[in-house]
Amino acid sequence: MTETRRQTAFARLDQPPAWPATRGRPRPQRLEASLDSLPGVGATLRRKLASLGIGTVRDLLEHVPRRYENAADEVAIAELHGDEEVVIVGDVLNVSKRPLRGRRTLVTARVSDGTATIGATWFNQPWIADQLKPGMRVRLRGKTGRYGFDVRSYDLGEARATADFAPVYPAAEEIAAKTVRRVVEAALPHVSDYFDPLPAALRADESMPLKRDALAVIHRPQSEDEAEIGRRRLAFDELLLLQIGIARRAAERERTLAPSLGEAGDLIVRYRKSLPFALTPYQEQAIREIDADLTRTVPMQRLLQGDVGSGKTVVALYALLRAVENGRQGALMAPTETLAEQHFNTVSDLCLALGVSCGLLTNATPKRDRVSALGADVVVGTHALIQEGVELRDLAVAVVDEQHRFGVEQRQALAQGRGPHVLHMTATPIPRTLALTIYGDLAVSEIAKPPASRKPVVTSHIGEERASEAYTRLTRLLREGRQAYVVCPLIEQSETSRARAAEEEAERLQRAELRDFRVGCVHGRQKAAERRTTMARFKAGEIDVLVATTVIEVGVDVPNATVMIVQEADRFGLAQLHQLRGRVGRGAEQSFCVLVSRPTEELTESAQKRLDALVATTDGFELAEVDLDLRSTGQLLGTRQSGMSDLRFANFKRDRALLEQARAIARRSPALLESLG
Ligand code: ADP
Ligand code: MG
Repeated sequence: MTETRRQTAFARLDQPPAWPATRGRPRPQRLEASLDSLPGVGATLRRKLASLGIGTVRDLLEHVPRRYENAADEVAIAELHGDEEVVIVGDVLNVSKRPLRGRRTLVTARVSDGTATIGATWFNQPWIADQLKPGMRVRLRGKTGRYGFDVRSYDLGEARATADFAPVYPAAEEIAAKTVRRVVEAALPHVSDYFDPLPAALRADESMPLKRDALAVIHRPQSEDEAEIGRRRLAFDELLLLQIGIARRAAERERTLAPSLGEAGDLIVRYRKSLPFALTPYQEQAIREIDADLTRTVPMQRLLQGDVGSGKTVVALYALLRAVENGRQGALMAPTETLAEQHFNTVSDLCLALGVSCGLLTNATPKRDRVSALGADVVVGTHALIQEGVELRDLAVAVVDEQHRFGVEQRQALAQGRGPHVLHMTATPIPRTLALTIYGDLAVSEIAKPPASRKPVVTSHIGEERASEAYTRLTRLLREGRQAYVVCPLIEQSETSRARAAEEEAERLQRAELRDFRVGCVHGRQKAAERRTTMARFKAGEIDVLVATTVIEVGVDVPNATVMIVQEADRFGLAQLHQLRGRVGRGAEQSFCVLVSRPTEELTESAQKRLDALVATTDGFELAEVDLDLRSTGQLLGTRQSGMSDLRFANFKRDRALLEQARAIARRSPALLESLG
């Protein structure tokens, strides 16, 4: 970035802003105005914009360009030809406006640059006719079109912005990118309605431009560097807000009291003895960290990270039992009913052996059973557990199995009142730096390696034209007494049609490839009881092959299931495939996962990379890094529950330094917290 450019943007810190648009008093309420208030936005366009999540002027102004077009060559009008986008510079001779079919309008300006004249055209922007004046100098970017020079972006007068660095917005298919550009342009004067949340002194310290200028500049930069200065400022606000939220939660927690649970006692000794294996060093380490938290009167907020099958549940139950041996309750919460049931099955077996009572509470639990479930020593459930009206007798430790589905809100609901100790479990390994960003207020324990008895799942990838090979291998293993999963594709949008697709596929396989075997089916549209029965039969070996939607993504533990076929694997995300694959490789036998995709020559580059990565490694942390490279922050797995996915401007990869800055400020300036709040 050149020094002069830096200065142009930063000069606006103290001087009157460069754009007329950015003068005036902030009027935040106008930002929430609906898009009707903008010229040229009718009902149809409004609906289309709504499909992009744009409903207000603010949404439009915060719609971030995906990139900027490169500077186009400036050419003489006499030399205009061909299909390239170019820039012409000339003077307006005259302006005319006429209606086209379908209530459209065409504005034409005759423009001359001395070499020739041409009719420059604007579609559906009738107001432009009032802005164009004879004799005015214009810089136009566009290309030769049906009616003349079809203007894509423009500068009037001496400005030199859009014509060179036209923003390209992420557009929905049904809206032309050009249209998005046009409505953003129409909204731009409203940047002056933004109130700047950053105190001037802080802005100066951090060399940040005004928010309104930053917004203006990302839509109309004079250079990419300038756009980046604007983006950074907006990213900074987001990161600061995120970090302030984290700092607040941490401060609140310090003020909340939780019961100190003292040293581990007799129940824990018996628990350890009841396990058929020795804990791994990672599990032991996590337990030591949890014990240290539980002796304090500040509520524990710890994240237990570990790949699928790494042995988190054993550790989680340890924490729950620490509550029970102190005469208190422990609760384990899962994001779905299926998962809650699975946890219940695992946990209640272990509890039974110890004489500890265990209850299941989901939305499916009949009223008459709720009271006894709630009174159990260990209560397993869905988020129904923390819904209003549900009172746990004496909760001391809560384990929240996040699986990317819990929200910050649930976490807060849980933290209210008596503030139990909370252990969050996640199976999506998140690169540590990211974990700190998202869960800045949580301590992190990591189970970095699964129990040694595990053999890594052998994974292969084939195009669907060779799918029969996968079923050949599958049936061979079934004959050897193993069991298998077939995961149905994601294609269908709704859970209902996905369920139907899974059922049909199960029937088809039962008639064809798998006619000699017992096929079962689970999906999200079944009654909990029906699903539970099918799962139980699979676990008992009464079903050989379970055809399933992604409901089996988490929690299912059948060590004898050693093969998985994932249909149309290219439609799944990397982390999701990794989760699915975690359903096999849970016993001592070698397991296999076959990813079947569309023909390999039709794969997108990123699908190919995802599948390659899965074939290459079973290490979740490595895959998380690959995922981070392939995705944008917003889509990053594990970020949905964090508020990270709301980030429009910040980019985790690019903005690590900025993030650190925001963290430092959030920590040292509690006063700022109030003003931004
Ligand atoms: P996670 O919850 O991390 O996916 P689990 O706790 O469900 O993993 O453990 C997966 C399987 O590994 C379970 O069958 C569990 O009994 C077993 N397991 C857990 N810890 C150990 C260990 N230290 N040694 C051997 N097997 C273990
Ligand atoms: Mg588990």
